[in-house]
Amino acid sequence: MTFVITEPCLGTCDTSCVDVCPVDCIHGPLSVEEIEQIKLDGEEAKLADIQLYIDPAICIDCGACEPECPVEAIFDEYHVPDKWSDYLDKNAAFFEE
Ligand code: SF4
Ligand code: SF4
Repeated sequence: MTFVITEPCLGTCDTSCVDVCPVDCIHGPLSVEEIEQIKLDGEEAKLADIQLYIDPAICIDCGACEPECPVEAIFDEYHVPDKWSDYLDKNAAFFEE
């Protein structure tokens, strides 16, 4: 099993999930530091197309990230809402690049 980050993360990028992950398997196109700087600069619009992803090869299914997300973007792979089922592949694909 793995956990999956879905659409509500887009443009939110709160990064709370990153802080609690014991195996550091949550990453995105920008680092946490870059995201924080963008928010400090008041340039949140730059994050509109940005989200973070969970590496399914490293995730140990601990579930620690799920309750930390303020926008309820994280699901275990068996409970991803149908409308966001493509995010299973999107998360995996990010780490194949
Ligand atoms: S999944 Fe939730 S907590 Fe993690 S970066 Fe996205 S919005 Fe933030
Ligand atoms: S379930 Fe655990 S290991 Fe997997 S991404 Fe969330 S915090 Fe990390």
